[in-house]
Amino acid sequence: MRWSRSLLATLRDDPQEAEIVSHKLMVRAGLIRKLSGGLYTFMPLGLRALHKVSRIVREEMDRAGAQEILMPALQPAELWERSGRLATMGPGMFRLKDRAERLMALGPTHEEVVTELLAGEVSSYRQLPCTVYQIQTKFRDEIRPRFGLMRAKEFIMKDAYSFDTSLEAADVSYQAMFDAYVRIFRRCGLDARPVEADTGDIGGKWSHEFMVLADSGEDGIVDCPACGYAANQERAERADVPAADPECPPPAAVATPGARTIDDLTAFFGCTAERFIKTLIYLADGKPIAALVPGDRDLNEHKLKRLLNVKQLALADEATIENVTGAPVGFAGPVGLAIPVYADRALRGAADRTTGANKADTHLTHVALARDAAISAFDDLVVAGPGDACPRCGKPMQLKRGIEVGHVFKLGTKYTESFEASFLTDKGQSELMVMGCYGIGVTRTLQAVIEQSHDADGIVWPISVAPYAVSLLLLDPKDPTVCAVVDALEQALAARGIDVLVDDREERPGVKFKDADLIGCPIRVVVGAKGLAKGGVEIKLRTSKDVAVVPAERASVAIAEQAAALAAALDT
Ligand SMILES: [Zn+2]
Repeated sequence: MRWSRSLLATLRDDPQEAEIVSHKLMVRAGLIRKLSGGLYTFMPLGLRALHKVSRIVREEMDRAGAQEILMPALQPAELWERSGRLATMGPGMFRLKDRAERLMALGPTHEEVVTELLAGEVSSYRQLPCTVYQIQTKFRDEIRPRFGLMRAKEFIMKDAYSFDTSLEAADVSYQAMFDAYVRIFRRCGLDARPVEADTGDIGGKWSHEFMVLADSGEDGIVDCPACGYAANQERAERADVPAADPECPPPAAVATPGARTIDDLTAFFGCTAERFIKTLIYLADGKPIAALVPGDRDLNEHKLKRLLNVKQLALADEATIENVTGAPVGFAGPVGLAIPVYADRALRGAADRTTGANKADTHLTHVALARDAAISAFDDLVVAGPGDACPRCGKPMQLKRGIEVGHVFKLGTKYTESFEASFLTDKGQSELMVMGCYGIGVTRTLQAVIEQSHDADGIVWPISVAPYAVSLLLLDPKDPTVCAVVDALEQALAARGIDVLVDDREERPGVKFKDADLIGCPIRVVVGAKGLAKGGVEIKLRTSKDVAVVPAERASVAIAEQAAALAAALDT
């Protein structure tokens, strides 16, 4: 492509709303343009890169035996009622009505549609296993769209769904997708690692996320350097290390006027946060319960929800708290509470701690939890963090940040039950199909590549997903000899299947060099009158400072060799 005839425009300055480097670079390099919050147009350069990511995804899905289909983005809400998710999806799902006043949804995901489809198509075990996938636009009404394509209202996902005759067979399908994901991200040049994950609204029992490590990532990853255990912070467990506090005298009430928070209390008592026990009152499916965590830790609501096995979990309102504790907010404690009390397992053996007294402006000191309070269960209830003991090997764990680019779930029969998606076994019995679902954020993956691979000058594309393999800088666009060399080289490279962006603009060389670095194509080739007089064209990799000078007639061969070596390094 010739730059002078393209819609390509680079920008000198960072866009104002961009917070992370990949978002800045995508706009500055002319890959995307913003329409409004969370909505972006892919410009020619960005779309080329996006198509390359999609192609890799498609090739690996096909190789893994999945069949491509395309389901509607617009879905009848009735399907979501049948799965029970119309209520649980909340305001994140775009809802609209058609002219007949039927409620519709713009699909944030397709479990309902695909299960309904397979329920109609599959009747016999002979048709299974079956995995289908699509590359489709998804919608999510984000409260705060940000980070460019990372958290957008409209984005492109690859979503796949497997259907099997048994849990064991479903494990095989899951593993095939897991392996395909490892290959996809490696081919995209991404360092993405699988971590254990929470199953969230999709439901199901077990899942892994593929995380790209990046400081700007929105997800916390708790990771054990000793044994390799890694999990999303929402999910991460920690080893059971109960407190071993010595015995203490009976609880004593202490007047603590106005001291409601842990900060107030550490100041008031002059001791560290872990000597306090936080008492949080929740409504679990409408019923009040109390959850206790050490004063220096945060409760993990995912863990509490799983322990209680409830659909809805929310912090109780002020009136409920006053009603169950008999005290204003800030003075709740486990001693004497008449509702079920669940405690983090680090509090098993906790003694001589301070808690609220269920009385205004009062706390209890010398609380020994097991002695003084009725605890329904001790369980892992806090957000795991750095320094916590690994659940597998007991060594200290660390905390990293990551960008989720893929997610694989074992769903079981959650959806096939709702949609009566059954098949006849070889013995003629009717059984429910066992499902798995597998997502890749295609647009997000593209941006994650840039987040992971850039330098101070711009993007550093892996050749597999670069918009063009080669930036060809034509330094003297008015010199017919130079132009002839560039024309011939462009044709020779095209014949070898190598795509080239020719910068033929009437611009100073400095501008062209800067833009080539910003756009970040893996191979830069410079053709100018001075260079040709001195011996040929210059070839340089984006990742290296070394410049090779090659006679013009040998340039296409040398470039093709470089391109092949770069591609081979990614496809192992
Ligand atoms: Zn470990």
